[in-house]
Amino acid sequence: MPEESTKWRNFLVDFAKKIGKPDAEVYVDTGKWKARQGGNGLKAAEDVKIKYTNCTAEENAKIYQLNKPITDDFYTLFTPFGKVSKELGRKLLKEVLVLDIATNIPIMSLQPFQQQNYEYAIKVKTMNVQKHDDLQRMIGYQIRKYNSCRKCLKCESVCNFGAITVNKNTYRIDTNKCRHCKMCVTAKYLDAGCLMAGYLVTKAESQEKTYEVQSA
Ligand code: SF4
Ligand code: SF4
Repeated sequence: MPEESTKWRNFLVDFAKKIGKPDAEVYVDTGKWKARQGGNGLKAAEDVKIKYTNCTAEENAKIYQLNKPITDDFYTLFTPFGKVSKELGRKLLKEVLVLDIATNIPIMSLQPFQQQNYEYAIKVKTMNVQKHDDLQRMIGYQIRKYNSCRKCLKCESVCNFGAITVNKNTYRIDTNKCRHCKMCVTAKYLDAGCLMAGYLVTKAESQEKTYEVQSA
C-alpha cells in the first residue's frame, strides 16, 4: 500500500515538525515517533489543563475556565458531591447550590461568571467543609471532564451504580442513580478524574506532577 504508506509518513513528518523536532524526517524514519509523547502538539492537550484564577473577593472560591457554554449536563457533574439545587440559589446571580446529602447544608455555590480572557467561566465557592482544597481538586476533575472528555467510556465502568452515561454528545450523571460514593472523582479509582488526561498530559506537566495550570 505505497500510497497509504506515503500519506502516513507525511502525516508523521508534519506532526514531528509541529511538535518542534529539529530533524523531523529522521525522527520518523528511525521509528523514534513511536515513543510516547504525551499530548505534545495536540489541541486536546490544551483542553485537559484545568485553568482557573483564585477569586480575590471571596475565600475558597475559584473561577474556572470552560471551553463551552454551561448546559444542564454541566450541573449534573456536581451530583457526586451532593444534591444540586437550582431552586435555592440566588436567582439574580443564576446561582446553583450543592447541598450536603446528609445534612442539606450548602457545601458549594456555582455561579456563571464573566472573567477577562475566559469566554465561558464558572465561579465555584466551597463552604461548610473542612478540606476546601480536597473538594476543589475534585471539582477540577469535573471541570476537566466537561471541557475535554474524549468519550473513552472509562467513567461508565468506574461507576458501580450505572449513573454515568457517556455518548457522542454528552457526559451526564443521573441524579436518581448516583449514590454519592465519589469513586468517579477520587484519584485512587480514576487518576486525575480522567483516564485520557493521563495520556494527553504533556511532558513538561508530567515532570511537575500536576495537571493544574493557574492562569494569570
Ligand atoms: S461513581 Fe457513580 S455513584 Fe459514585 S459518585 Fe460517581 S456517579 Fe455517583
Ligand atoms: S475517563 Fe475521561 S475521556 Fe474517558 S469517559 Fe471519563 S472523562 Fe471521558
